[in-house]
Amino acid sequence: MSIQRGSLVIISSPSGAGKTTLSHKLLGEFVDAVKFSVSYTTRPIRHSEVDGVDYNFVTEQRFEEMVDAGEFAEWAIVHGNRYGTSRAVVEGALTEGHDVVFDVDWQGGQELSKQWPSDALMIFVLPPDLQILEERLRRRATDAEDVIDRRLKMAIEEIGHHDIYPHKIVNDDLEEAYSVLRAVYLCRRWGDQAPKEVQALVAENHAANVGAHADRLTSDGSDPYA
Ligand code: ADP
Ligand code: 5GP
Repeated sequence: MSIQRGSLVIISSPSGAGKTTLSHKLLGEFVDAVKFSVSYTTRPIRHSEVDGVDYNFVTEQRFEEMVDAGEFAEWAIVHGNRYGTSRAVVEGALTEGHDVVFDVDWQGGQELSKQWPSDALMIFVLPPDLQILEERLRRRATDAEDVIDRRLKMAIEEIGHHDIYPHKIVNDDLEEAYSVLRAVYLCRRWGDQAPKEVQALVAENHAANVGAHADRLTSDGSDPYA
């Protein structure tokens, strides 16, 4: 019996939009079916993080060695630090049949979907507006003030790449946003066999034209960070 290939569930967003929160909910609900791709990074660890769980925290030198050894499926510089996705994790998903969530920026999303176009499920999470994004970043209080400012400026750039992602979700009310993410995932997994109400939720979300919302966020004259 052949093992079904797993999907690469790629979730991107500007920092603070809620992709970690949403990913954790998906991982919590589908514990046996979905794993998390623990990236490698050279960024300093935050007090709330656990090495090997949230990220594998490595030195610049170690990261460089891994690049040279071809251990990354993709890597990128984000907010001045390096982040990379383990090639072994991607291959495990494809050969062992479990789905894997990748929390990567648009560069990582683009690269993974280029290499595995039919395995990638591309989802972009958007904030309702930029003021709320700032509030969430400040409330999270895991970054220094200058880091938060840098992340806010980068948010506009990240949102500018939303076109790479066929699925876009506005994270205003968390439970509503999660029900859409869950529906997108279930439709991928079960196709036409997914419950009708779940299929309807995905269709409704497409019809809502979240892309136009993303375009407004990047072009809105009132945006203080543009
Ligand atoms: P990201 O991973 O995209 O940087 P997080 O998931 O860390 O974002 O979320 C940033 C902050 O916003 C966290 O403190 C989180 O608890 C909060 N948050 C996430 N989603 C919502 C939501 N829908 N409403 C209010 N706060 C939220
Ligand atoms: P943070 O430092 O807030 O955890 O993450 C910063 C950004 O790096 C986020 O947009 C996150 O999605 C992205 N990121 C995390 N891991 C990877 C990775 O392995 N590759 C790429 N390209 N981006 C990543």
